[in-house]
Amino acid sequence: MMANSMLLRDTFGRVIDYIRISITDRCNLRCIYCMPNSGVGLLQKTDILSFEEILKFIEAASEVGIRKIRITGGEPLLRSDLPDFIKSIKALGTIDDISLTTNGQLLEKYAQKLAESGLNRVNVSLDTLNAKRYSDITRGGSLETVLNGIKKAEECGLLPIKLNMVPLRGINDDEIEDFVRIAMTTDYQVRFIELMPVCITGDGDGKGRLVPMEEIMNRLNAMGTLVALKLRRHGPARYYTFENSPGVIGIISGVTCQFCSECNRLRFTSDGKLRPCLFSDIEVDFKTLIRNGASKETLKLLLLNAANLKPEKHDTKFNLTTLSKIGG
Ligand code: SAM
Ligand code: SF4
Repeated sequence: MMANSMLLRDTFGRVIDYIRISITDRCNLRCIYCMPNSGVGLLQKTDILSFEEILKFIEAASEVGIRKIRITGGEPLLRSDLPDFIKSIKALGTIDDISLTTNGQLLEKYAQKLAESGLNRVNVSLDTLNAKRYSDITRGGSLETVLNGIKKAEECGLLPIKLNMVPLRGINDDEIEDFVRIAMTTDYQVRFIELMPVCITGDGDGKGRLVPMEEIMNRLNAMGTLVALKLRRHGPARYYTFENSPGVIGIISGVTCQFCSECNRLRFTSDGKLRPCLFSDIEVDFKTLIRNGASKETLKLLLLNAANLKPEKHDTKFNLTTLSKIGG
């Protein structure tokens, strides 16, 4: 692996080494907390960057200190040539870790190719272990299909598998303990993600469905002695295990707590905009530059400037339309 000695630091001294890259705003599900049944206004296909264009961005980013990439969407596996794209990221020789966030509906089909391409691991969104609930929350998704995808990803070595669960009051919050038991009895890591108020159809912005992290922590504490894990850098996540159990549980709270001082990430949207903070409207357009043939040095300069637009902290009264557009 080529040395990547440069560190990207923002104005507040935070080292930025991680970018979440959304490769599409399209999705094959309609999760109730993410988008309305009718879907969201989609980008024109011509506005979505080609993999070649995204690779130009990644190459520049890796030269200013980015080492970790998470590929997300929308549903990233809707782009069937994703394994080839991952191969080309690997071929740069400068990115240490590539992961993927997926709803898992197409994972069984692609897991082998993804593993062969050099993908390191997957996060799979799974909010319930009940088939009817799964179909209701995702508006039509199949629990069996995602479970088969998870099994296949495990067989292919896309490890550790992390399960993302969004607790929703009155919908799946009675399953929090079941998910904890998965973490305690298997190699899967479970991450509870606090609901961000975007749109629960019929529920306004869904704030009534929020299960605060404090409640989740209380419920975890009632199950055993929690031990905080000191992992290297983890942005808005906190990781725990139980005494005498190897399981890992993550708590990701963007709403009720503020971990901004440790935030190490940027987001790149499928139409080529760099978003320094999920909760701020600031976006820096790279698409126009890339399409106009800007040099790598120009992209690097813009990246350095964009990192400095990262706010010190975000306001808890933010305005998010949907994560499927920005890349959750
Ligand atoms: N489609 C893929 C998936 O579902 O894993 C990747 C994109 S999705 C936007 C990424 C993550 O964002 C998922 O784990 C999803 O649960 C989470 N997410 C979406 N809307 C959310 C919301 N309103 N609050 C909290 N998490 C949300
Ligand atoms: Fe699609 Fe993921 Fe949003 Fe669900 S959370 S609608 S799978 S983008």
